[in-house]
Amino acid sequence: MSETIPHWLTKQAFLAPNKTAIELENGDTISFLELKERSMRFAKQLAQTGISKGDHVGILSTNNVSMVVAIHSLSYLGAVSVMLNTRLTKQELDYQVRDADVTTVLTSEQFKEINFSIPVKSFFEIEQYLEKPIKLQSVMNLEDTFTIIYTSGTTGFPKGVIHTIGNHWWSSIGSALNLGLDHKDKWLAVLPIFHVGGLSIFIRSVIYGIPVYLVEKFDEKVVHEAILTKGVTIVSVVTVMLHRLGEYLGDNRYPDSFRCMLLGGGPAPKPLLEKAKVQHIPVFQSYGMTETSSQIVTLSPSDALEKLGSSGKPLFPAQLKIDGPKGDIGEIMVKGAMVTSGYYKNPKATDIAITDGWLSTGDLGFEDKDGFLYVVDRRKDLIISGGENVYPSEIESVLMEMEGINEVGVVGRKDNLWGQVPVAFIVLKDRSVYQDDILVFAEKRLAKYKIPKQIFFVDELPRNASNKLVRAKLENMLDKK
Ligand code: ATP
Ligand code: MG
Repeated sequence: MSETIPHWLTKQAFLAPNKTAIELENGDTISFLELKERSMRFAKQLAQTGISKGDHVGILSTNNVSMVVAIHSLSYLGAVSVMLNTRLTKQELDYQVRDADVTTVLTSEQFKEINFSIPVKSFFEIEQYLEKPIKLQSVMNLEDTFTIIYTSGTTGFPKGVIHTIGNHWWSSIGSALNLGLDHKDKWLAVLPIFHVGGLSIFIRSVIYGIPVYLVEKFDEKVVHEAILTKGVTIVSVVTVMLHRLGEYLGDNRYPDSFRCMLLGGGPAPKPLLEKAKVQHIPVFQSYGMTETSSQIVTLSPSDALEKLGSSGKPLFPAQLKIDGPKGDIGEIMVKGAMVTSGYYKNPKATDIAITDGWLSTGDLGFEDKDGFLYVVDRRKDLIISGGENVYPSEIESVLMEMEGINEVGVVGRKDNLWGQVPVAFIVLKDRSVYQDDILVFAEKRLAKYKIPKQIFFVDELPRNASNKLVRAKLENMLDKK
């Protein structure tokens, strides 16, 4: 028999009805009881449109309360939220809506005019409906699907990751067992909720009974002020946010009550981590992906001093292994109840990725003798030059340290003698930097076979809707050079 738990929002509204669930930038607050009541009402209004158990409903929205209410309300109907990235092109959105068998798309006001072949309704429109007197789900089945979220499409076509209630539940529990839980905690959410890293904050809030400080759009001043004056104790960020917050913080310090800057989503350059250390920012580096329902490996600041650059150890309910000889670099494999059971309607990709519950992440890394994980690069992007392994991200992070360089992307180019050689695409900060300066800088810091054999200066690097560098597009650019 499959496991059920009480509906998590109903339960929290019962345990702590008056506690704040969501706090907004304008000072408004919503209690757990209010959040439950709003979500139940919205569920009954949604039911008027015919949405019912098992339906797939797209959500296309910037961060706001109505979006959070919509996600909870779909779970009261037993329907699935398909989270859509607002930065996708119409063509990409069409693909995901079709691929995920979405029957209705719910949007915030600014997207309500989008034309899909299926009904599109704004949250506001639904809120005007009468409530249909139906019975809502009082329990959650851990095996039921809660969300479908597409991968970023950095290494290929985005794939629809299925997250069950159980995946989110265990992800939340794993995070709490690692970061600890304080009754004064307040988690600031500024990451897009359509990514699993943003969404998971709202699920943790309901399971832990702690408030989320909801920020609609990243602005370092707003986040800085919230940490200083709003009692925020935890913030989830990606590297560019940490960088901008660090610049803004300067010589100042965050209050001691601010205990965790959870950093994830991609590689973290060492200089950024070192600077954060000097500034006493309590950075917790983490590693995870859509498939693992957010972080699955996390480094605490107490270890960070000794293990700078590591992503840490797997969370309590998770396992990690490296495919290959001990101590060597190999593919990172993870297993645990927060790991997806597969991609929606894509058994082929699922079979390739998951064997006996172990997910092949497509990332390369190694474990040190104490079991700390170091993520090296994507397996697909490995360059083999004269029999030596060259990791583009190592070259990128070294060149990023040079004054005057803004962005770097490295890929392999075919070479008759070496098989492949690394070449670099560089976006300059100031035009007074020349190719020779860069090569001199690189020669001091990198082995000869890692030095880019060609440098192309470009205005921008190709990035996807998650702002990740798409190296395959750089390779296409090379073919045309
Ligand atoms: P796709 O799977 O479609 O190619 P994607 O892998 O970029 O896209 P996400 O699930 O958004 O989609 O990103 C997860 C990836 O981000 C990881 O597999 C890894 O490559 C990278 N990443 C996450 N955390 C770290 C980290 N700490 N260090 C290095 N890379 C990281
Ligand atoms: Mg991936």
